Amino acid sequence: MITNAALQERQAAAVAVGVATKGIFAVRAENALLFDVEGRRYIDFTAGIGVTNTGHRHPKVMAAVLKQMDAFTHTCFNVAPFEDYIAVAEKLNALVDTGEENRTLLATTGAEAVENAIKVARAFTGRPGVVSFAGAFHGRTLMGMALTGKVVPYKKNFGPFPADVFHAPFPNAYHGISEADAIAGIERLFAADVDPARIAAIIVEPVQGEGGFNIAPVAFLRYLRALADQHGIVFIADEIQSGMGRTGKMMAMEHAGVKPDLVTFAKGLAGGFPLSALVGKARVVNSAQPGGLGGTYAGSPIGVAAAHAVLQVMEEEGLCARSTRIGARITDVLTSLAARQGMEHIGDVRGLGAMVAMEFVEDRATRAPSPKLTNRVVAEAEKRGLILLTCGTRANVVRFLPALTIEDGVLEKGMTILEASIEAAISDDHNATA
Ligand code: PMP
Repeated sequence: MITNAALQERQAAAVAVGVATKGIFAVRAENALLFDVEGRRYIDFTAGIGVTNTGHRHPKVMAAVLKQMDAFTHTCFNVAPFEDYIAVAEKLNALVDTGEENRTLLATTGAEAVENAIKVARAFTGRPGVVSFAGAFHGRTLMGMALTGKVVPYKKNFGPFPADVFHAPFPNAYHGISEADAIAGIERLFAADVDPARIAAIIVEPVQGEGGFNIAPVAFLRYLRALADQHGIVFIADEIQSGMGRTGKMMAMEHAGVKPDLVTFAKGLAGGFPLSALVGKARVVNSAQPGGLGGTYAGSPIGVAAAHAVLQVMEEEGLCARSTRIGARITDVLTSLAARQGMEHIGDVRGLGAMVAMEFVEDRATRAPSPKLTNRVVAEAEKRGLILLTCGTRANVVRFLPALTIEDGVLEKGMTILEASIEAAISDDHNATA
């Protein structure tokens, strides 16, 4: 039998070390379950980082992809366009409320959607500057990385970065950054570093993903909208992790009632097939000249067929409402767990829909992060058959991103395993320090 350990060894000898991985090698996955090379079964609370929101291999997504494979797999949209690309664009244009007529560009990865958002914002405004936030994650390409607000591991050793990117503080009440502090940060930026008249775009994740599932306060998003309007800046919502029903709405921005100018989607959009989208105001998106946007694989027929099915499944199965219910259940369990005696290392539980996180701290008074305990919880969960992911600028957050199609029984089983894993990790931690 091939073992995970043997494959890890082969990986170390063959694969770039920069690609950090877990030690579970997949052979099969079905809805919210994943099976490894050793025949072990895992409950998957990661959905491939918020990608398989419709579950692994949703039958309708698979059928659409197989049908597409029988027809054609690639033409390059620039060479021979096809109807489904237009159909997906039409659906996305209707789903995204910018307050104006929309246009859509399909690409392949999230980072690519972000790159294109910056390109059209620059073309539209004729300005160079971009404001993003501390703790943000916008991808691993050069501009994506420049916009990202975390040095290790994403930026260290990889500079120089594109110029004219400015970072402002992101509100984080739990760690003492109030909304007022964040607003003061932007005011300082515009007074000390850059004239707002040189800023093309502000890009924000309404719920920071890699940064720790930090939820932007409604008033802060409204402030950013007003600021963008005041200075003629394009307001971009990066919904790559928070979009596609993850927070209980198609876009997390909808919770705040704030209309962005441009939106980026990827991950959940095509249920496990590579596809991303830039959706936004026609007058902004259309400022790029013909030939200025696109790519060989951009809007691949396979990804497009999958997205078409995903959007249908989301509607038919009411996955936004289901996301809200799943999130409420996870939050309930985590909150009662945190209230139990001996669980003082759980510092915070937060979430929007089924985008839920729990933060581990040394103790509740200092709120000092405990990445060690966080990793221990993840390891204990893996031993017990549950795959978890961490996040956070201090690597002390466990994030919950289960498929929105997860069966109730599987979700409950996963939460039971989680509870046992936290108990084991905490008792290990105490034994280690005793
Ligand atoms: N933006 C956000 C908010 C993300 O969460 C991610 C991926 N984690 C990206 C951009 C980059 O997407 P990709 O990895 O598909 O390039």
